[in-house]
Amino acid sequence: MSDIIHLLPDSVANQIAAGEVIQRPASVLKELVENSIDAGATHIQIIVKDAGKTLLQIVDNGKGMSETDARMAFERHATSKIREANDLFSIRTMGFRGEALASIAAVAQVEMRTRQADDELGTQIEIAGSQVMKQENVQCAIGTCIRVKNLFFNIPARRRFLKTDNVEKTHLLNEFYRIALVNPQIAFSFFDNQEEIFQLTPSNTKQRIENIFGKTSRKRWEQQLLPIETTTSLVRIYGYIGKPEFAQKSANQYFFVNGRYMRHPYFHKAVMIAYDKMLPAGESPNYFIYFDIDPQAIDINIHPTKTEIKFENEQAIFPILSACVKETLGKFNIVPSIDFDTEGALDIPIVQNVDNIRPPQTSFNPNYNPFSSSNTYKRPTLDWEKLYEKFDNSPSEPEQSALMWQENQSEADVFFSKINQQESEQETQQAQNLQLKKKYVLTGIKSGLLIIDQQRAHFRVLFDMYLKQIEKRQGVSQQLLFPEILELNTSEKIVFEQIKPDLQSVGFSFSENTDGSFDIYGIPAQIEISVVINLLHDVLAKSQAAIDDSTSQIHETIAMSLAEASSLKSGQDLTNEAMSELIDQLFASSNHNYTPSGKKILSILTNEELEGRFK
Ligand code: ADP
Ligand code: MG
Repeated sequence: MSDIIHLLPDSVANQIAAGEVIQRPASVLKELVENSIDAGATHIQIIVKDAGKTLLQIVDNGKGMSETDARMAFERHATSKIREANDLFSIRTMGFRGEALASIAAVAQVEMRTRQADDELGTQIEIAGSQVMKQENVQCAIGTCIRVKNLFFNIPARRRFLKTDNVEKTHLLNEFYRIALVNPQIAFSFFDNQEEIFQLTPSNTKQRIENIFGKTSRKRWEQQLLPIETTTSLVRIYGYIGKPEFAQKSANQYFFVNGRYMRHPYFHKAVMIAYDKMLPAGESPNYFIYFDIDPQAIDINIHPTKTEIKFENEQAIFPILSACVKETLGKFNIVPSIDFDTEGALDIPIVQNVDNIRPPQTSFNPNYNPFSSSNTYKRPTLDWEKLYEKFDNSPSEPEQSALMWQENQSEADVFFSKINQQESEQETQQAQNLQLKKKYVLTGIKSGLLIIDQQRAHFRVLFDMYLKQIEKRQGVSQQLLFPEILELNTSEKIVFEQIKPDLQSVGFSFSENTDGSFDIYGIPAQIEISVVINLLHDVLAKSQAAIDDSTSQIHETIAMSLAEASSLKSGQDLTNEAMSELIDQLFASSNHNYTPSGKKILSILTNEELEGRFK
């Protein structure tokens, strides 16, 4: 029998190889721009026509290529970036496979001009379907300009496979963002069918993010980014995360490692855990997180177009990342940035008539004697209003407010607030609150009108309370005259045995009957008897779903179910005192902005907004 195996001609082999690397115009953009970055360019210009299907041109001011290198660059496995297998483990450049230019030239018509700084003349080379058409010396600028025309001109099946211009353009932009976000020091311009889409000047990371995504709503972006930063012997993590209230259905979420975009579902989980319960359902936060790590500790050599990157120490980095995000959220979440930030200082109208300004007046009570016995001691209020007061002057200083919050609780402050309160008592009685639609509690504060959802506020307060009881094992129980009977199926029973101590610590007491059911003879003080059985089934179902989670997550699940079941319902009348107490408790809670399930508790109608309505 005759032999049937033969070697494929280079052009065909190249086309097949190209299929791996070049799938669409966006892949060309990625490869070419990465080459420009590797060449040390500080300015990169991208020009596309018809979403890159007709033309994709990249112009850089990098180091350029010699005449020979310009020709060599289009050979497969031709690279200047690694020399031996060992180099693969310490890659600092974007490219290293030496495949991109060969692949592109196999499936498109390519024209390249390039010049090194020392050379007087540059080189121009034209290549189509892997065939060199022409190479000659030309006058050109330092750097490299590559034009890729008619992608897949020689593979009609693949050309037809390309999506509409809009879809391909989205791919182009996504690829562009991934590169521009991690190279803020490089200037980029992007033209699409002659229209300038981006003109990004060299900047810092935060500005770069804002310049890219804040095109339509800059303010929204300036308000939402919180810095994160942590350095350990293993890794340095830094970047920006979005405030929970700016979460959206399709968020911008980016991880980068050593200057390269990556996808990392496991680390994504670490971030999301930190945002636990702060996000509205179905929404997720924006984030831009950068990792600096010893190249030896990661493996980027998986696949030419795959963006997953393997970390040697994933398990160890996970908690570092999560804690770092959590810390930042904790630091900034103390202040109700939502309402104040949207009305940034810039919005305050400039005072027109300076003559009208009156100096502030002070008044005091000359008869006041702090030692007189008629001044009976009253419980000092938490003075949470002060939290807001500060924003009138400095809306963008969360740290300072955080400090103030601590001061508020210091003994000195309690003392002063006591005196202040006594002083002002003659003028004002207790704060007046107002209940609206039996659903909202309204109260005036210095900066405007505070509106609180009563059910959600109570939910938060109770959640904190139950969680504390579970963790400290000190709930308050009410004893039942006639025990309720709890019947459980087998799977419920397993969970029940596991969380029984937690339930006991919030005030439940049980005894098992001979038939396997349980008598409930004590329940938490805040819970109504009528809801107990349903509530327990609910807690068991939720805990069952969470059983693989950590103990603290199970505790939260239990506290959440209990709090939800026992919280004030809307439709419930509240006395003025009850409202004041709710407000005090809310502002003493762990998070007065959001319920444990991530719903917004309060909103503020600022003075400016109010005044605006009467203009
Ligand atoms: P790789 O980037 O993996 O090395 P490429 O096929 O993308 O492979 O590029 C091949 C070589 O061509 C690079 O190693 C580099 O030496 C050279 N080169 C490509 N693009 C540029 C550029 N814009 N400026 C200077 N040199 C370049
Ligand atoms: Mg390359």
